[in-house]
Amino acid sequence: MKTLQLEKYNIHVVTLPLPFDLDHVNCYVAVDRDGMWKLIDCGVNTEQNHAAWDKRISDLGLDWKRLQAIYVTHFHPDHYGAAGWLQEKSGAPVYMLPSGLEEVEILFNNRKHFLGELADYYQRNGVPEPLTQEMMGTLSKTGSLIHSQARLSPVEAGTRINLGGYEYEVIWTPGHAEGHCCFYGRENGILFAGDQLLAHISTNISLWPDGNPNPLAVYLESLQQLRKLPINIVLPAHGQSFTGAAERIDELCAHHRERLELTKAAAGNGSSAYEVCREIFGDQLNVYDMRFALAETMAHLVYLEQNSKLATRLDGDRLLFYQPA
Ligand SMILES: [Zn+2]
Repeated sequence: MKTLQLEKYNIHVVTLPLPFDLDHVNCYVAVDRDGMWKLIDCGVNTEQNHAAWDKRISDLGLDWKRLQAIYVTHFHPDHYGAAGWLQEKSGAPVYMLPSGLEEVEILFNNRKHFLGELADYYQRNGVPEPLTQEMMGTLSKTGSLIHSQARLSPVEAGTRINLGGYEYEVIWTPGHAEGHCCFYGRENGILFAGDQLLAHISTNISLWPDGNPNPLAVYLESLQQLRKLPINIVLPAHGQSFTGAAERIDELCAHHRERLELTKAAAGNGSSAYEVCREIFGDQLNVYDMRFALAETMAHLVYLEQNSKLATRLDGDRLLFYQPA
């Protein structure tokens, strides 16, 4: 959709820089007639990002004091990171689903406990000790991309909110994160999709300690929920906006079915998740990508296990997956 058409719905895309391989995130600003405005997603908490926000908001001729609400699709640093900074600037409430608030509690406010569980999880799943240390090291860095906590307010799924003069419904879409939500406009068919539905990348679906025990199952279900909606245009958090939501959903489901087949075959007759991961993704991944590849492999392994396509046994303290007879 061209900028012009988005403006018809009083929406502006704010694309902000990210210090990752995925180098940008799209946030969205919706402006009401009286110059009051709201935003969806925040970017990371870096000075570069703050400067980008300031510039874009002044270019749009908006006043920080007229920002009424900050909606966050999920707790990941590229979406939630600058929420506290934006709140300080504007005094606006920051809204997330109740399950999103819990994730903030577990992952940021109770970080030490989470990191302890994560180190155990890596070892149980066959990650060599030095690599576990390296992976833990990269994680402690992402903490700095979050501002001192924002004061958070819950918004329930099903709530109708007004963005730029149009009504949108908050839709719970767990999978990428348990507390992930999208915003859907019934009148205009616009879907603010967060990371749920992206044009060219498949959303990362990961199994984490303390997270949903079968994240791929809930992700595929939440995609089917979206598929029932007449969606005209998807406004994703990364990449270009796009049409053809139903086709994209079908493509993603097919991708996961294929990946499940590969994962099942790679498990062979007793492999750790780390071994399966190397079989699928190769051994050239950097530490950062390895974290996601492993957690994604785990999501597929537990999905297969819960559908009785794979079984598990313990070898010492290592968990092995194998094909049941
Ligand atoms: Zn995310």
